[in-house]
Amino acid sequence: MATTLSSHHAVYVGSFDPLTLGHVDIIKRGAAIFDRLTVGIGINPDKNPLFTADERLSLMRNVLQKQTNVEIECFEGLTVEFIRHCGARVLLRGVRTLTDIETEFTMTLANRALDPEIDTLFLMASEKYTHVSSTLIKQIAQLAQGTALSKLKEFVPPEVVGPLLQKYERTR
Ligand code: ADP
Repeated sequence: MATTLSSHHAVYVGSFDPLTLGHVDIIKRGAAIFDRLTVGIGINPDKNPLFTADERLSLMRNVLQKQTNVEIECFEGLTVEFIRHCGARVLLRGVRTLTDIETEFTMTLANRALDPEIDTLFLMASEKYTHVSSTLIKQIAQLAQGTALSKLKEFVPPEVVGPLLQKYERTR
């Protein structure tokens, strides 16, 4: 527990199932503020993800390879414990809507109770991506026809489109 945590190092956690352009936007903005940004892909045994943790890790490493101060890891267990293990003092979160803020507020208080040394910083989603979520992306990939399906590339990085459509055995 006696480790010194760095204020110049932030951790951004999520399921990233799959990574969207909304996530990428937060990652790039976070990486421009902090010297170092660790992205933590949460492995939650209660969730049944579309992409395995290894698939998410390799897709994200592929998309973010040019971000030299960004590293990506999978983790199990409590977020605050992962952040402390990374030696970071800041948890970075993205917020899109008032509903997001309400959920985040409760989670922030819980995290603070668990580890008061770790603070949470929120970045507001860019207006372009406010409506983008991994859930919406999966619905489009599974159900959309024609033009709507071709809109996928406006919401996810190009590297994600192929693997996503493959999961639902669809073609572009
Ligand atoms: P979780 O399983 O924690 O909801 P997500 O992968 O959906 O994980 O999201 C991870 C983080 O990214 C959360 O802070 C979430 O609010 C934020 N986020 C998700 N989508 C967007 C977006 N379109 N723009 C900005 N932030 C986003």
